[in-house]
Amino acid sequence: MPLKIETLTLNDSVEQYVNKSIVPEAQQICDDVVLLWKEEPSTEDLEIDGLFERIILRHPEWRITQHTLLHTLTKHNLYATDEAELETYCSQVELPNVSEVLKDLGLPKNIELRAAGNGRGRGLFAKHEIQQGELISAESMPLVTIPPIEKLTLMQAGKVCSLCGNSLGHSDHFIMMNGLDCNGCRSVWCNRNCKKRDLTHAALKHVKARNQAISGSGWAKFEKFCMDNVFVAAYSVGIIYASSLVGKDDILKRFAPLAQVSQRLRNRVSDSTNVGGTFDASSGAVGTSDPEPIWERAYELFKEAFPKSAEIDLDKFLIYVGKFNLNQVAGQIYPLYAFINHDCEPNVRYEIDDKLRLKVYARKIIKAGDELFTTYVNPLHGVKLRRRELRVNWGFLCQCNRCNKELSQRTVKMRAAQFSLPSHSFADQSRRRSSMRNARPDLTDLLKNGQEFDLEIPDNVGISHRRRTSVRFDNNVTVAVEE
Ligand SMILES: [Zn+2]
Ligand SMILES: [Zn+2]
Ligand SMILES: [Zn+2]
Repeated sequence: MPLKIETLTLNDSVEQYVNKSIVPEAQQICDDVVLLWKEEPSTEDLEIDGLFERIILRHPEWRITQHTLLHTLTKHNLYATDEAELETYCSQVELPNVSEVLKDLGLPKNIELRAAGNGRGRGLFAKHEIQQGELISAESMPLVTIPPIEKLTLMQAGKVCSLCGNSLGHSDHFIMMNGLDCNGCRSVWCNRNCKKRDLTHAALKHVKARNQAISGSGWAKFEKFCMDNVFVAAYSVGIIYASSLVGKDDILKRFAPLAQVSQRLRNRVSDSTNVGGTFDASSGAVGTSDPEPIWERAYELFKEAFPKSAEIDLDKFLIYVGKFNLNQVAGQIYPLYAFINHDCEPNVRYEIDDKLRLKVYARKIIKAGDELFTTYVNPLHGVKLRRRELRVNWGFLCQCNRCNKELSQRTVKMRAAQFSLPSHSFADQSRRRSSMRNARPDLTDLLKNGQEFDLEIPDNVGISHRRRTSVRFDNNVTVAVEE
């Protein structure tokens, strides 16, 4: 029987891709690379050709060259053969004078605030040895309580506490009998403490409030704009500013000494926008390549809410936004805690309870003269992701011992992966896997017991050389068919 050679396409979507091929925008490329890194952290070690291969596999419809990929990623701070080329802004972070408020900071006797050296600005240092587990400092309240913006609609409807956003857990009768409702609007509070602490309530929420410096209707527009654009930082700056106008304490005076940098500078270093992006979501304008119009509109509405804020121009407003983002922890500002610098293997840990009290404890023995270090990022993240988060959100390339150790381990591993390694038996593999599971540390324990830890989970458990190879199907197969 005569045979004919025929080539069949296995992947029937290919034709579709060819027809629908698109030229991706820079933002799409960056977002997808960041997403890939998030899904498979080991791919952050890929050189540009390996990365290109993976991206094309994920998006056969993309018309893109390796050169475009390289150019786009380099331009957006996502790829550099030499990390010194990556953009940072720590040298441009300003450190306003703190001496005026030093006595109001509540610095514990055992702790001093001084220059930290190595470009780290200022830091907190132990004056005497601190024991493991010891309570180092406690801040009974944040600078002001910033209500959770995502609960604004529920707050306005009186469904949750108007200050902390917690569910009420009381009957309407209980709320009325205990005076936890507002005489001027539908707001309610979960307890007396929240009601007492909600200093700006009347001025911001009651349109007829008499404060000349605050317009209730202007604030309503500003608040809605911030909510619609997830511009948490601007909203928080608004709350801080309003509190400084109505409160007895000089709130702005305590906000002033914290480190600051314009949001414009921070945004320049941001690497991607939405999916898997490392830039803080509170920056506002997430998802747009040019946030400037949103910043300008937010500023206009801020001025409408605070008609007498002549001292605040757009630049100052964006410095406040950047300042909030640099210093916030869990969406609040703690004026003392804000002076603790970062290390990926911190010697302190903190707790914030449901009354928003922040307590700092020693994770390990801290010797006299040692600096206190907390962590700004999730210590369970891999070294590349941690450093990217730190660079984008705080402007520095982390050079802590843990980062340096893990980076050099990775280099060794990458080199090893380039040579063919002997394959392990199945038994060997499963033993290694289970021992890894057992060895995987629990973060809570780690942070409490203060032991040294190496959280890096190897990417190449037994099958490194195979895992690093992408599986690639040839779309076409040639077969012999009967004629
Ligand atoms: Zn409350
Ligand atoms: Zn009210
Ligand atoms: Zn580090």
